Amino acid sequence: MSAQTIGGTPVLILKEGTGRSTGKEAQRNNITAAKIIAETVRTTLGPRGMDKMLVSTIGDVTITNDGATIMKELDVQHPAAKMLVEVSKTQDNEVGDGTTTAVLLSGELEKAIEILDKLSMPVAEKDDATLRHVAMTSMYSKGIVVAKEHFADIAVKAVKQVSEKVDGKIKADIDLVKIVKKHGKGLEETELVRGIVIDKEISHAQMPKKIEIAKIALLNAKLENEKTEFDAKININNPDQMHLFIEEEEKMLKDMVSQIEKTGANVVFSEKGIDDVALHFLSKSGIAAIKNVSSGDLEKLSKATGGRIVASVKELTKDALGEAKLIEEIKIGDDKLVYVRDAKNPKAVTIVIRGGTEHVVDEADRSLHDALSVVRNALEDGKILAGGGAPEAELAKRLREYAVKVGGREQLAIEAFAEAMEAVPTTLAENAGLDPIDILVELRSKHESAVNPWFGVDVYSGEIRDMKKLNVLEPLRVKQQVVKSASEAASMILRIDDVIASKGVDKGGPGGGKDSPMPGGDDEY
Ligand code: ADP
Ligand code: MG
Repeated sequence: MSAQTIGGTPVLILKEGTGRSTGKEAQRNNITAAKIIAETVRTTLGPRGMDKMLVSTIGDVTITNDGATIMKELDVQHPAAKMLVEVSKTQDNEVGDGTTTAVLLSGELEKAIEILDKLSMPVAEKDDATLRHVAMTSMYSKGIVVAKEHFADIAVKAVKQVSEKVDGKIKADIDLVKIVKKHGKGLEETELVRGIVIDKEISHAQMPKKIEIAKIALLNAKLENEKTEFDAKININNPDQMHLFIEEEEKMLKDMVSQIEKTGANVVFSEKGIDDVALHFLSKSGIAAIKNVSSGDLEKLSKATGGRIVASVKELTKDALGEAKLIEEIKIGDDKLVYVRDAKNPKAVTIVIRGGTEHVVDEADRSLHDALSVVRNALEDGKILAGGGAPEAELAKRLREYAVKVGGREQLAIEAFAEAMEAVPTTLAENAGLDPIDILVELRSKHESAVNPWFGVDVYSGEIRDMKKLNVLEPLRVKQQVVKSASEAASMILRIDDVIASKGVDKGGPGGGKDSPMPGGDDEY
């Protein structure tokens, strides 16, 4: 098929083995692939959605309900399907939630974005109760439902703690929320620490393990003698010289330590190593030290405690020290961790996730990621919507009204898009074991007649109810991004009418084995 004819003579343009599908066939293959991907995540949508167990090629098991995680783990070959996986990644990177929904929808319309914006309700910065509901809504479908109130509370406190006002606008960088995962105990024991938790132990047995009113030195400097680093040769002719040499070395370290002590520091965090002799002197001065701290942790310590990272002991002054009410070493299972608690102005915080098993802790971590993201979105934009398929149903209604005004061929496209929107409430209903047709009929009539746009699917009672009253709340940003990502990908897929796939590295003999890139259509799946 790679031979083209020019003036009756066959000309070889594409490499032998290159696959190609064109026109309607290419479109049909791509649509099929996209639909199959959508089907994969369809059953996970909403609180009544089911989990998936994913087994990697090396046998690692992940149990999750998180659309983004499922899409990430899928070993997708088809190029159009790969695009849908990309949509899910974008959704996760941009807003941290709504991935299943983004994959489910197809269509195209900026109007939808505008309608959603008009529909949205304001949420005040101070309104913690509402922010907690937004966090809880993102966690309804996750395996950590039992502890969702506790997690929602932690998520709101954490995001608010690291948020700042820039030119009157709230900015919350959730990377400043450090997550430490330790399995053991239960999800309820998950703790927000107003400071930083370091996965390291205090470096010397005789050092204090609990320091109240900590004055913290943050060093990016070695507490070691430089020359011990190299294979230097020293000529020593008698025991006295040896003694002198050692004394000299010790004195230098002792000087460094007394310099630290003079500033009033009682805890040292160092990105570099600390010599055993230096550790000995530090412990004699009652100073606790933690060595080989990662640069990321040192930065966060600086943000949290107000301390300045210094590159040499000489630069260390009293005003460079950070502060925290309490620093303590805590043993969790076999590991020791250092907790820096109640830091001076914690612009960086830590959440220590606990839970029965590693799988539980991992899913809790993913849920927390969603919760932190939605709280950030709601806080930064100050705009939310109710969920449960209500905004999609209302959007469908308003789009249909708009379609009539537009008329012509476009009317059909807008109507198709409106129908696609309704896949959200119907899928939520289906996953809850309800009849999607009954639900849709009732939902449409409620939206037609109602003054209230928030009628959606209460997946627990099986009834159409006011989702705002039920406190099922979501950030506007998630829904808008859902519509954007999904419609962009869908229109991109639909515009393709020619797929040319080169053969790739042939590993499996004829047919190319698993790595064959040719989108062969239905039978490949
Ligand atoms: P996504 O990856 O798209 O966020 P989820 O599985 O988290 O997928 O499901 C999100 C959908 O579930 C949203 O439409 C949301 O409004 C809905 N939802 C969440 N909690 C509830 C609830 N208690 N009742 C009804 N719908 C809910
Ligand atoms: Mg979600």
